[in-house]
Amino acid sequence: MFTKAKIFLSFLIVLSGFSIAQEAAQIDLNEVFANRTEQYFRFSLESKDQIENLSKLISIDKIESNTVFAYANRAEFETFLQQNIHYQLLNQPNYLFEAEMYNSGLKQTYAWDQYLTYTDYVNRMYQFANDYPSICQVFSIGQSVNGRELLVAKISDNISTKEDEPQFFYSGQIHGDELVTSILMLRLIDYLTANYNTDNQVTELVNNIEIWINPLANPDGLYAGGNTTVTGAIRYNANSVDLNRNFPDPQDGSHPDGKSWQIETQAFMNIAAAQNFVISANTHAGTTVVNYPWDTWTTRHADDNWWQLVSHEYADTAQFYSPSGYMESFNDGITNGYDWYTISGGRQDYMNYFQNCREVTIEQSVQKFLPASELPAYWDYNRQAMLNYLKQVTFGFRGKITDFDSGLAIEAKVEIENHDNNNSFVFANSLGNYYRPIKAGTYNLIFSAEGYQSKTILNESILDYQSKIIDVSLQKLDLSIDSPDKPIIEFSNPVQNSVLRIISPVQIHKMTVFSILGQAIQTVENEDQFELVLNTQNLTSGLYIFVLQFSNGKASTHRFLVP
Ligand SMILES: [Zn+2]
Repeated sequence: MFTKAKIFLSFLIVLSGFSIAQEAAQIDLNEVFANRTEQYFRFSLESKDQIENLSKLISIDKIESNTVFAYANRAEFETFLQQNIHYQLLNQPNYLFEAEMYNSGLKQTYAWDQYLTYTDYVNRMYQFANDYPSICQVFSIGQSVNGRELLVAKISDNISTKEDEPQFFYSGQIHGDELVTSILMLRLIDYLTANYNTDNQVTELVNNIEIWINPLANPDGLYAGGNTTVTGAIRYNANSVDLNRNFPDPQDGSHPDGKSWQIETQAFMNIAAAQNFVISANTHAGTTVVNYPWDTWTTRHADDNWWQLVSHEYADTAQFYSPSGYMESFNDGITNGYDWYTISGGRQDYMNYFQNCREVTIEQSVQKFLPASELPAYWDYNRQAMLNYLKQVTFGFRGKITDFDSGLAIEAKVEIENHDNNNSFVFANSLGNYYRPIKAGTYNLIFSAEGYQSKTILNESILDYQSKIIDVSLQKLDLSIDSPDKPIIEFSNPVQNSVLRIISPVQIHKMTVFSILGQAIQTVENEDQFELVLNTQNLTSGLYIFVLQFSNGKASTHRFLVP
C-alpha cells in the first residue's frame, strides 16, 4: 500500500508538471533549446494514420488513448512544427528530480537503492569479472560519442570455451533517461554470479546458456549531467540522436531516421553480427508492458503465438511479484508493437529481421526518473520474469548440423516449412549448433546451406517449454558429382517458353532441381528416356542447378537460367 501511495503521489507531481501550452506561431526555438538538446511535448491525434508519418519525424515516447508523448531535438521539432499540429510543451521528465547517488567513498556496501556514478558503474562491472572469473568476463564492445564504455558482462560456465549453448543478450537503457533499466540489469549480473552453485535455478541457467548483459546502452544519455550524477539524464545520445530509431529497418531502409549510424548503433550491430544471439531483450521505462514484434509493420511475426506466450509469461510473473496495477495495462501487460504505435529504426525489429534473433522490448516502470529508494521494489517485480525469459532460450528445436562426409560443422539455415516469413528462420553457429524457439506444434524443418543438398525433416512435434534435439548431416552438392566420361547433353539455356528440354545420348534416369543455395526443389523420374522436359512455369526467375543421373550410373551437374 505504501508503495502504491507513493507511486500515486509521484504521478500527481508529474501531472502538475504538464504546463506551458504554447502556440506554434509564437514559439521561440532559441529559448526552448537554450538549455537543452531535446524537448518533451504532447499532442492529440486526429487519426491513428498520422503516426506512420510522425513516427519518422520525432521520437514518440508513448501513446495514451489519443495523446502522444514525444521527444524532439531542435531540427526534429522544426519539422514537427511544419505539420501544424496543436501541441503542448511539457516539462522534461526529469523535472524536479534529484537523483540519490551512491557514494563509494562513504559506504562500502551497495544496497541497490541508489544510483551509480559512471566510475562506480564501470568499477562494479569489472568487479564481477574479478570476483567470479570462472563464470564471468567483462569487456567493452565499443565507446559512446563522448568516449564512455559500452560494457558487456558475459556469464556462463566454462567461460573461455565456446560450447553447445544458446547465446542470450539482455541490454538496458538505450534511452538514457529511463533510469531503472540499467540498475536492474546490473543487479541481474550480480544475482547470476553471486548465486551460482548455491541456487539451482541460477546454476542451471549459467550452465546451459551463454548470457550476455549490457546494462547501459547509452551512457552519454544517462550521464548527460556529468559523470557523478544521473540527474539531468536525457533520452538521446550526445549527438542528439535517438539510438532506438537509428537502426536499419525492415521496411524503411538502412537509415530510417535520415541520420548516419551512431557509434553506439554500430557497436551493437557489430556485436550482433559477430555473435549468434538467439533471444534478446531491450529494456525501457515510460510505462509497463512487454512489446513484441513487429514495430514497423502490421504483418504478424511468424512466431506471433510464441511471442504472446513468452510476453504473457513475463507480464504474468511481474504481476505476481508486484502490487496490483503493475504491468496490467494493454492486453494484460503485453502488446504487439505496431498495434500500440509504429516506430522505424528500433533495435527490436533490427535484431529480429537482420540478425535472426528474437528481441522483445520490455517497459519496466511508468516513471522514467524513478526515485532511487524504489529500485529494490522494481527488482522484486522483475527478477523472476527476467529469469524466466532467459530460460526460454533453452526451449525449442535445437541440434547440430554437420557435413555428411567430413563431420565438420555447417552454419546452415533452419527454416520451418510453411511457417517462417520475414527472416524468422535461424542459422546454425560456427559449431554447427542451431536453436529455434517455437510454440508447441508439429512442424517440418528444412535444413539448407550453400553447396549442400537441403534436407527436410517431416512432422516433428514439440511442446511449450520443451527442448527437442534434431541433429542433421547434409550431403555436399558437389559439382564434382560429374562422373568421368559423363554423357554430353544439350539443353536450352536460358529456358525458353517456360520449358527446359534436355536431350541426352544416354538415357536419363532421374533429374533433381536445386535452388542456387542447394535446396532441392523438384525431382523428375524419367523412366529412362533420351529426352526430358521440365515445365518451369512455377520457378521464379533466377539461376538454378539440376543434377542428372543416367541409366548407366553416370551423373552430371548443370546450371540453368529461368528468365
Ligand atoms: Zn525507451
